[in-house]
Amino acid sequence: MKFKKQIEGLQAYQPGKTTDEVKRLFNLEKVVKLASNENPYGASPKVKAYLDNAKVNYAIYPDGYATKLRTAVAKHLNVSEKQLLFGNGSDENILIVSRAILRPGLNTVMASITFGQYKHNAIVEGAEVREVPLKNGEHDLEKMYDAIDENTAIVWICNPNNPTGTLTLSQKIKEFVEKVPNDVLIVLDEAYTEYITDDEYEDSIGLLEKHPNVLIMRTFSKAYGLASFRVGYAIGSEVVISQLEPTREPFNNTVLSQEVALIGLEDQTFIKECKIKNNAGKKQFEEYCKERNLDFYPSHTNFILMEVKADSDVVFQGLMQRGFIVRSGNALGVPGYLRITIGTGEENTELLQKLDEVLREEGVI
Ligand SMILES: *Cc1c(COP(=O)(O)O)cnc(C)c1O
Repeated sequence: MKFKKQIEGLQAYQPGKTTDEVKRLFNLEKVVKLASNENPYGASPKVKAYLDNAKVNYAIYPDGYATKLRTAVAKHLNVSEKQLLFGNGSDENILIVSRAILRPGLNTVMASITFGQYKHNAIVEGAEVREVPLKNGEHDLEKMYDAIDENTAIVWICNPNNPTGTLTLSQKIKEFVEKVPNDVLIVLDEAYTEYITDDEYEDSIGLLEKHPNVLIMRTFSKAYGLASFRVGYAIGSEVVISQLEPTREPFNNTVLSQEVALIGLEDQTFIKECKIKNNAGKKQFEEYCKERNLDFYPSHTNFILMEVKADSDVVFQGLMQRGFIVRSGNALGVPGYLRITIGTGEENTELLQKLDEVLREEGVI
């Protein structure tokens, strides 16, 4: 058959083991998954209250324009409704943007290491991928600028960056955006924006006024605790959004997902509380690393990339046998490190005790 040449040998996304699999595999009663940066506190209790009594007409297609949710998000962000694109998670928005723009002969610039889906989708579309190594765990915007030429179509900035958790300061992004030619789309993937506490951080939506080639991506999957519902949104200029809309599937958010995202959005108190608890959890990990002389990247998210001074896969396995699923640095291009989602205080304490056991076995501490 006539498959695209470039997808030959391309691997499907490899999800980690589920908690059920790990329970069965190691005969455990309790398994905690701290691997994909979901909110350990779940979603707003108002979402649960809604779902317990939800009455949905299953036979009818959802609102393909996500009108109610769109109105609420537009109001929340103080942008126009036409500046929003809703996707089946940010993952789909990355796909939509790639599909609308990339093709053989064009190139796309991104960091290495960063979120894997930018590269994956670029390969599917046959575009050239230009990866610029991080500098101290941060986007090297000068080198990324140097990588741009007349065939560059999209630049991806993951901010804060996954898997390092590091933040590129607003001032640097502003300077970068001012230099980049205005026919290059600059995507700011801000999946963890709700967790940022840095005083110097400015909301990037302000960039849109002068720079219609900026597109910001946010999601209900992380701080809002709604990953299973698959709702992400992009905020851009009306011109860019209207060009992207036709490449989106007609009914890409379900009836329930639109409802729960709206309820989640309206409970900003819950988001604030989670941010405070996340900060306390982050300190647990930072102190742990400092006491054991393990390197870590300063995190502005709900996960931390930390050194283990041993084979990441071995430590990952050791934690899994003890009931904690994390991400091995080997799978992320950072050998010798683990990426761990910051859990509840109790989960963190228990995980760090288990990590001590594993690191002792490995002779690290
Ligand atoms: C989790 C994540 C996404 C994907 O989010 P979904 O909305 O669940 O598809 C996108 N970008 C980054 C950086 C992420 O960490």
